[in-house]
Amino acid sequence: MKTRSITEVAKEFLGTDLPKDGVICDFTMGGGHDTLYLSDLVPEGKVYAFDIQPLALERTSRRLEEAGGRSNVELILDSHENFDRYVTGGFDAGMFNLGYLPTSDHVVTTKAETTLAAVTKAVEQVKVGGTVVVVVYPGHPEGKREGEMLLEFAASLSDKKFDATYYRLVNIPDCPFILAFQKRK
Ligand code: SAM
Repeated sequence: MKTRSITEVAKEFLGTDLPKDGVICDFTMGGGHDTLYLSDLVPEGKVYAFDIQPLALERTSRRLEEAGGRSNVELILDSHENFDRYVTGGFDAGMFNLGYLPTSDHVVTTKAETTLAAVTKAVEQVKVGGTVVVVVYPGHPEGKREGEMLLEFAASLSDKKFDATYYRLVNIPDCPFILAFQKRK
């Protein structure tokens, strides 16, 4: 069996049976791989994709065009903790794929404080039954801080309201891991 990448596993936490007219947030657009995948989960709905780097919007827009175009995607140049300025009616699922834009100069990375603010707000605002999934890369210093803060946040959530899942390989130190937050019905 082919080994699945950490982002493939993360997407499995979102499921494939979202409402066709649902709303999904891609909180870290990057090169648009995740945006493209998410757009196909809600063909009659909408994906709001966020990034703070114009390069990410350029890459994603090109990727979507090369895939034939996607009219259900809005690309937004803004930080993810501001997502509720654009997404006002709640959303069905959300994905954070933290860290650096691959093959960029690695100057811009997600930051622990803003990530925690955005994840906290996303978990509050996701619809009942919906999931917010986060891929964390603790192999660099800021990613390690992000991971520690997010794990503490996840452990603090009420089990009456959320299933908070921690998924990782236990035999590789500092390997990427997943936190998935599902709001209970
Ligand atoms: N999802 C992407 C894909 O499919 O290619 C990969 C995302 S990449 C690992 C992380 C991205 O998060 C980078 O493009 C970076 O610019 C972006 N980022 C960093 N800080 C951010 C913030 N505050 N709000 C939104 N995006 C941010």
